[in-house]
Amino acid sequence: LSDRLSGVLDKLTRRGALTESDVVEAMREVRRALLEADVALDVVKDFTEKVKAKAVGAEVLRSVTPGQMVVKIVNDELVAMLGSDAQPIDLHAAPPVGILMVGLQGSGKTTTTAKIAYRLTNRDRKKVLMASLDTRRPAAQEQLRVLGEQTSVATLPIVAGQTPLQIARRAEDAAKLGGFDVIIYDTAGRVTVDEELMDEVRDVKAAIHPHETLLVADSLTGQDAVNTAKAFDGRIGVTGIVLTRADGDGRGGAALSMRAVTGKPIKLIGVGEKWDALEDFHPGRIASRILGMGDVVSLVEKAAQTIDVEKATKIAEKMKKGSFDLEDLSEQLKQMQKLGGMGGVLGMLPGVAKIKGQINEAGLDKSLVHQRAIISSMTPKERRNPKILDAKRKRRIAAGSGTKPEDINKLIKMHRQMADMMKTMGRNGGMLNKFLGRT
Ligand code: GDP
Ligand code: MG
Repeated sequence: LSDRLSGVLDKLTRRGALTESDVVEAMREVRRALLEADVALDVVKDFTEKVKAKAVGAEVLRSVTPGQMVVKIVNDELVAMLGSDAQPIDLHAAPPVGILMVGLQGSGKTTTTAKIAYRLTNRDRKKVLMASLDTRRPAAQEQLRVLGEQTSVATLPIVAGQTPLQIARRAEDAAKLGGFDVIIYDTAGRVTVDEELMDEVRDVKAAIHPHETLLVADSLTGQDAVNTAKAFDGRIGVTGIVLTRADGDGRGGAALSMRAVTGKPIKLIGVGEKWDALEDFHPGRIASRILGMGDVVSLVEKAAQTIDVEKATKIAEKMKKGSFDLEDLSEQLKQMQKLGGMGGVLGMLPGVAKIKGQINEAGLDKSLVHQRAIISSMTPKERRNPKILDAKRKRRIAAGSGTKPEDINKLIKMHRQMADMMKTMGRNGGMLNKFLGRT
């Protein structure tokens, strides 16, 4: 798959900006990659259209081919669509916080209930109660009880003959009485989506008002998982998705489809049968699994970094000449943020590593952000020539950047000192080059 993709990409010739035909050709292969990864057809169509519109005309970084550039754009769009950050389970509510697990039979609800309980107990130090509302399969409540014993998590005592609703109420009372932080409700599933099941789950949800309703879906069921997600979200409303059996799924397409169709975040993935086989969902990893082009992505990222180094070098030249203005300072501050804030920059300077602990990095990073805000509230003329900044202009800039006129004075002073210092250092070479990573 990735071989064929790279083959097409290599054919694309080097150019300044991506043309329509570059993109169309690369997209044909991207579409095939997505379909092979088991992404739903509608989602593939929407996605490729969106990326095409973004990619045509995009600047190709020097030292990468247009095809590689397309892959990077596709990858970034995939990550954005999958949800850029890992989304933890939300426990911000009055205890006991309810988590309702829903999904088809065999999707992994009971196993996942135990996995989440195990994680919340041992990692987050929460007091967790598990309750099985599965009255359909005779052994279901017993299955959860055994899992509770194995993971040392409390389970609601089994009382024969109760309805799911009665069990749910009993769990709530027991949790309040016992001072539990979290209750996880495991529900019954059916082989397919049916009305009776939906009604039952809906009634339970209406009675207990869970803070999270997690749909558990088997990633191996691909397209069916997408339809299931649509049905559950439409009828019951879910707050997140747990994808199970990701350990057996080399494609990752279900994640993208489910996210695209429901708009709900994938919060966790199951990667095995044991109760510690639960991981946070990392969009970047799934994106590279879907595309199979992780190497290309890091190549383009490196190329982008090189451009940053070139920018920094240009600034250094200006400093030497003494024409370092506030525009340059803003660029410099941006580079510092990219390099991992003050901590990252300081760590690169020889001799600083030792005293790093004594410096208030967080404070410095916050002022980095403020300083950039100040500069971006200035007109281009003010940035080139800070001397024209009178009290009136300073008040305007302060208002625009949410700072005080004193902050602007401090920034101007810092800029002047930097420019002076850089001029002297520039004459001597050495240190400045080191600072800018040119050694
Ligand atoms: P439920 O009917 O939805 O409650 O499903 P269960 O929790 O009983 O799980 C059904 C089967 O799937 C069991 O054999 C589990 O061990 C297995 N299972 C659940 N999650 C995973 C997973 O992430 N990976 C693998 N490989 N197996 C899983
Ligand atoms: Mg079950």
